[in-house]
Amino acid sequence: MKKVDIHCHADIYSDAELEAIFRNPEYWVVGAATTYDSGRRLLELAQKHNRLKVCLGIHPEYPQAFSGFDKVAAQIKNNLDKIVAVGEVGLPWYCLEKMDDGQKVAINRDATQLLSQFIRLAKETDLPIILHAIEDTASQALDALEKQGIKKALFHWFEGTEKDLARIVTSKYFISISPDAMFNQRYGEFTDLIPLANLTLESDGPWKYNGKKGVPSMIEDTARFLAHRRNVSAERILQTNYQNCLKLFGKNQFV
Ligand SMILES: [Zn+2]
Repeated sequence: MKKVDIHCHADIYSDAELEAIFRNPEYWVVGAATTYDSGRRLLELAQKHNRLKVCLGIHPEYPQAFSGFDKVAAQIKNNLDKIVAVGEVGLPWYCLEKMDDGQKVAINRDATQLLSQFIRLAKETDLPIILHAIEDTASQALDALEKQGIKKALFHWFEGTEKDLARIVTSKYFISISPDAMFNQRYGEFTDLIPLANLTLESDGPWKYNGKKGVPSMIEDTARFLAHRRNVSAERILQTNYQNCLKLFGKNQFV
């Protein structure tokens, strides 16, 4: 069975870690860029590891990288035959915690503008878009997607309101579930509400879970966890993940 980790920061792993990940022939990894340089590294790595797929964008929790839009937009347009999506893009949440009100307003304004630029680019290039838009920011991201008539989107590690979840489901967008579901009871319960039709699996590696560095194979642990809660088989969850990845990225991927 093909096992796809739909959201992973593969550029952060060492060469040895990447060798270990791709030694398992079942594994495919969708690598999300955080900055221009991170995207450049992913493109290089994908030449070596053909089961690594690349998304290009600017991570919304990295305000210092926001000014790089023109460079990243050119990177996307120049690599259309080598990439599968625009991402990771979205709206800031965690980075705002340490800021004063004035800074928050400024960063939110810049991030909102940047997101609409990336959404326009996704529309223009007909690429799916991978979003970081959690908690209260999801409704704003959904408004922006709807305004541009975006059909293919993934809300990675989405945890938010039931109202925004319903909008994601109605729009037939996808949600990826992170291994954190196994360690965070509230999030674990929230994942029960995500229909199979919208469900995918991610590691967001090398983000750590319970002190352990995230790796793509953790999607199998998450699949077992979800299977147990839903009273279905783990194979069914992994198969659903694979089928939904094909729906999002196209049937010619992961072959
Ligand atoms: Zn991420």
